Amino acid sequence: MRYELQDGRILTWSLETHVATHCNLRCEQCCPLSPHLPAWSVDPAALGKDLRQLAQALRPNVFKLTGGEPFLHPDLPAVLDAVRASGISRQVSVTTNGFLAQSAPDAVYERLDRMTLSVYTSAPLPERSIARITERCEQHGVHLTVKRIDAFQQLTPEAPHETEEAVRGVHARCWLKVRCHLVHAGRFYACTRPPHVATVLGRTYPELPALGEIDGVPLDTPDLLGHLLNHLERETPLATCRYCLGGDGAWRPHAQLPRARS
Ligand code: SF4
Ligand code: SF4
Repeated sequence: MRYELQDGRILTWSLETHVATHCNLRCEQCCPLSPHLPAWSVDPAALGKDLRQLAQALRPNVFKLTGGEPFLHPDLPAVLDAVRASGISRQVSVTTNGFLAQSAPDAVYERLDRMTLSVYTSAPLPERSIARITERCEQHGVHLTVKRIDAFQQLTPEAPHETEEAVRGVHARCWLKVRCHLVHAGRFYACTRPPHVATVLGRTYPELPALGEIDGVPLDTPDLLGHLLNHLERETPLATCRYCLGGDGAWRPHAQLPRARS
């Protein structure tokens, strides 16, 4: 994969950040592993600093607030202001399961360009809620996409891939490394998996390397543009690919995990 540059910035499909890692649903095989992560919300000032650095070298077509569930963040308007002020992208979007979006303050809708509403068969959002969100998006000129999802793809293998050939194959076939770039806690990632796989699977595999460090480009690195290009155009797998199925996993009916015991 080769990337084009414009005005000294790499043009990419999208960039996302996990505004909150926790969620009000517990989808099995949640890509960012939300049901298995501790609650955490991004600091708007820290995100703004990361994005100002990244905006020197990267120009995603759209910047996405994802999670976890973004509407669980205690101050989403402040997050959106930090994103806007950074100049990282002309379009700002939020991806939500919708349960809190219908009653969110106008200040959120006023700061958005797009919303993606994921409606899961295993936890269906009532049609009246979808209608209310549609109405509010229309009022505020927010482009709404409703995705009805009845299946999930397994992302975490039962055991790490044993051979280098298997790891290379998973990475080579993976589409997430092009579509799901992530900025998280001072680093850029080619996909959303490294920081969270490290947190969750580290409990099972004590020998697991520090994937969040190995597979992320620090944003304060000299020659950020060169490092990002090398990272995005690499043909060698990430260390995380050994613990991931990428786009190869089997499809299963969508399902919720049981509630965690408190
Ligand atoms: S709604 Fe999204 S973030 Fe929440 S558990 Fe489901 S897939 Fe994960
Ligand atoms: S860890 Fe590797 S296989 Fe998994 S999503 Fe990222 S690039 Fe794809």
